[in-house]
Order: sequence, then structure tokens, then C-alpha cells
Amino acid sequence: MFIGGEWVDSPEQYTVVSPADGQPIATVAKGTPEHVDQAVAAAKAAHDSGVWRSLPPSGRIAVLKDAAGRLGARLDELTALQSRENGAPVRLAGAFHVGMPLAHLEYLAGLAEDYPFERPGPSIDYLPTDGVIRRDPIGVCAAIVPWNVPLLLTVWKVAPALVTGNTMVLKPDEKTPLLALELARELHAAGLPAGVFNVVTGDGEDVGAHLVRHPDVRKVAFTGSTAVGREIMRSAAENLKPATLELGGKGPAIVLDDADVDVAVDGVLYGVMTGSGQACSSGTRLLLSNSIHDDFVVRLTERAATLKVGPDPLDPATDMGPLISAEQRDRVLGYLETAKANGATIAAGGSAPEGPEYEAGFWLEPTIVTDVTPDMEIAREEVFGPVLAVLRYETLDEAIEIANDTEYGLTAGVWAGDETRAKEVADKLDAGAVWINNWHVIASGYPFGGMKQSGIGRELGPESLDAYTESKYITVDRSSTSAEKGFGLLFGSLASGA
Ligand code: NAD
Repeated sequence: MFIGGEWVDSPEQYTVVSPADGQPIATVAKGTPEHVDQAVAAAKAAHDSGVWRSLPPSGRIAVLKDAAGRLGARLDELTALQSRENGAPVRLAGAFHVGMPLAHLEYLAGLAEDYPFERPGPSIDYLPTDGVIRRDPIGVCAAIVPWNVPLLLTVWKVAPALVTGNTMVLKPDEKTPLLALELARELHAAGLPAGVFNVVTGDGEDVGAHLVRHPDVRKVAFTGSTAVGREIMRSAAENLKPATLELGGKGPAIVLDDADVDVAVDGVLYGVMTGSGQACSSGTRLLLSNSIHDDFVVRLTERAATLKVGPDPLDPATDMGPLISAEQRDRVLGYLETAKANGATIAAGGSAPEGPEYEAGFWLEPTIVTDVTPDMEIAREEVFGPVLAVLRYETLDEAIEIANDTEYGLTAGVWAGDETRAKEVADKLDAGAVWINNWHVIASGYPFGGMKQSGIGRELGPESLDAYTESKYITVDRSSTSAEKGFGLLFGSLASGA
């Protein structure tokens, strides 16, 4: 772990295994609530000392950009590490798990160049007053992230927090802590003062929950499941910490009858099978009009069969990696069993690929489930695996109604030829991001986050520093006498001029 600028071990360790073959790849310290206390104390001391927040923004930007450069110089090594740790195929890991976070680190750090840390306040008509309005750092922030795209979701929190002058304690997911530790290493090599950024590894209940409840933590940023997000909001309410929550999704992809079918077939699979469906942004519900349904499903299953599933995520020819753990694979298989029992059909996939090379890892073929109706569990719950649920619609109004009939509201998409019609549909979809003719269009300048139970707040985009600063204003009254200052509102003697 990295606490107060030092590498810290724990009496207890645990093993991180590769989900591709179950082999150990690292031994990691198992943090405890006491480690959280130490990390929060280090972060609080660094905040109180002013060593970081009193630097000019240019000084903080320089450290973050230097760290991005150092990590970038290790791109291939970190990509391989990520691929082994969470099973992402190496082409995807290089672009999405490591390359994109580094670009976002640069972008988010750069936002501080023009950020209004201090601006003059307006004049006050009843007092000769000068004022300033500031955006100050909040203090010690906590970040808790999941395993699916660990560095990206970490950077979305660490970069805006640090560049605005806060200090932070990060708890990575227990299954994927390695890149967070490399981020800590490079931030400190770049000159980040001790205590400003701390990483405590360990599990959610011991380390995560204790961190959220800690009275010296002033803000929480979380990405993960809706169930844990709800817990976190409850704990944060105890001492009224603001919480940014990025939670689950059940993205609907609506194909209109004038869509380019070849591109839409590829795009629907790209939307759901990338990362083996372990992305909150995945398009997991496909809505097809009755007129194109049968032909589209045939093309989809044929195309899905061309995806190369493993067995080695480090092989550039691999298209899909494993699921993160045996529990996750079993959970997904459980959803498929229930779907079948409810009357759905497994049109493709549904089990692990055959062969001894797949036996030790947590593999599942790309799976397409048809005959799904909107009330089925497979159409309502987040599966978090390579599973597409196909639903039918008759009219576009019905498609929009089905798409919005969910507690989630993170992503949605429309495949269409006529852009005007596609935009009319997009306007009616309740989601933080709606993608026309593509999927996973996540870019630094666009605010990402969910409506409804997909979360609270947004990450990325030009306003992303606001979640890590608080307004504070200071005024100086230049009048001299008690009467001029308006104290006659209290002292009648002043009001009467006595
Ligand atoms: P999870 O909620 O179980 O775990 C996420 C993190 O929370 C982990 O670090 C875990 O250790 C920690 N945690 C668990 N219990 C905790 C508790 N009681 N208190 C504090 N921390 C606790 O999620 P997961 O299953 O590991 O990740 C997958 C989920 O994340 C999916 O539901 C997915 O949709 C969501 N996700 C959302 C986004 C987004 O941007 N909206 C991005 C990626 C993943």
C-alpha cells in the first residue's frame, strides 16, 4: 500500500490471480481499518499543512502531467500488467484501460489552467465592498473504484481532486489493485508531496466502508454497483459528505429499419461484447422491430461466432477475454438459467469455449438471448457479462417505452440511416449518454454519468472540477462608521442619528 509517501505492508496478504488461467500474478497487502485511519491522517496532515493546496495551479498541473508522461513511457508494460490482472485483451487494454486514462489525466489536469479558483465578486449596492469568490479544495477525498476499467475510473477521480488542491485516499478493487499502485509511484516520482495521494488495498466491507464513514473524509467518489452505491450514500449521509456515484446500466440499443445492417450488427456486438460485457456502458438490450428481427438475429449470431475468445489475453489476435472471477461467471450463468426457465432462448453461446486451455480460467462465449420480454429478469438486471438480450417492438413509440422502462439511465443508442429520425428518438431516451451509430463513445470533453439509479453527478467534461471544490467568498467593507456599515438595523441610536 502507499500511505504518507511510503510503501506500507500489512501483516496479512492476499493473492491476485489472472482470470484467464487462475495463476497467481501478485501478492498484495490486505489493508485494515487501521490502515485507513493512517492514510486519512496522512491525507489530512498534508491538506492542513497547505503543502499542496497552496501551490499555484500551474505547479499542481505540472506534477500531474509529468506523472502522465511517466506512465505513458511504460505503456506496453502497464498494458501487459492490466491484461494479466483483469483479463482485458491486449488491444483493448492498451487503448481503453491504459491509453485513454493517460489522455484523460492530461485533459483533466489541463482544465485547471482556466479554472476560476478566484474571481472578483460583484459590487454590493448598499455597501462600499470589495469581494472575491473562490473555489477552494474540499479536503480529504475518498475514491473507491471497481475492477473492470480500473485506471480509467481512478483517473476520473484522482485527477480533478488533486489538480484542485485536495488530498485523497483511494481504495482500488481487491481484484485489480496493481495500476493504482503504479499511479501512486509515478505521482510521487513526479514530485507529489507525501500524504497527498494514498492507496489502501483491501476489501470493500473492511477498508471501503470504513473509509466512507471516516469523519475526516469530506467527499466520496464511487464507481461500482448500484447496491453498494446506495450503501455508500447512506454512510456518507451520517456526516453529510457529498458523494459522486457512477453506478450500473442496462443500455438499450434501438435499431431502426433504415439502419446499415452490416454496421449495426458489428456495432451491437461491439457495444455489448467489448470487455466481455463487463462495462457499465454496455448496450445489453437490443430492441429490433418485428420487420427486421429474424434476419438481424441470424446475422448477429453468425458474426458473434467469428469473435476469437481467448485463450490468451496477451495475444493480439484475442477479441474477448475471460470474466473477472469464477463468482462472476457463475452469476452470469445463473442469469442464463433463469432466462431459459422464463421462456427465453439461448440463440448463441451460453457456456465456456471447449478445450483444456479454458478450464482453469473464467471463460464464457459471446451469448445472445432471444424471445426476451421486457418483464424478464434478463431484460431488467445488470448481468455484467457477454450477454445480449434481444427484444422486439412493433412501433417506435413502443421501442422508446421499452428502452426507458428501467431503473437505470446510463447509456443508450440508436442505429439508423436517417439522422433526423435518430435524433428524435435520442431526445426521448432517459440516459446520460445517447450514441447514434456507434457505442462506447467516451471522450474527455463529454460529461459521463447516469440518470435515475445509474448515479449522481458526472465525471469528465469541462465542469468536472466543480465536484471537488467548494465556493467561498471573502468581502472587505471599506466604509468607516457603524452607521455607514448599517448597524442601525440593530442599534436604534445609530438609525436615529444620535
Ligand atoms: P461493487 O460495487 O461490488 O464494488 C466496487 C468497489 O466498491 C470495490 O472496490 C469494492 O471493494 C467496493 N465495495 C464493496 N462493498 C463496499 C462497501 N460496503 N463499502 C465501500 N466500498 C465497498 O462493484 P463490482 O461488481 O466490483 O463492479 C461492477 C459494477 O460497477 C457494475 O454494476 C457496473 O455497472 C459498475 N460500474 C459503473 C461504472 C459507471 O461509470 N457508471 C463504471 C464501471 C463499473
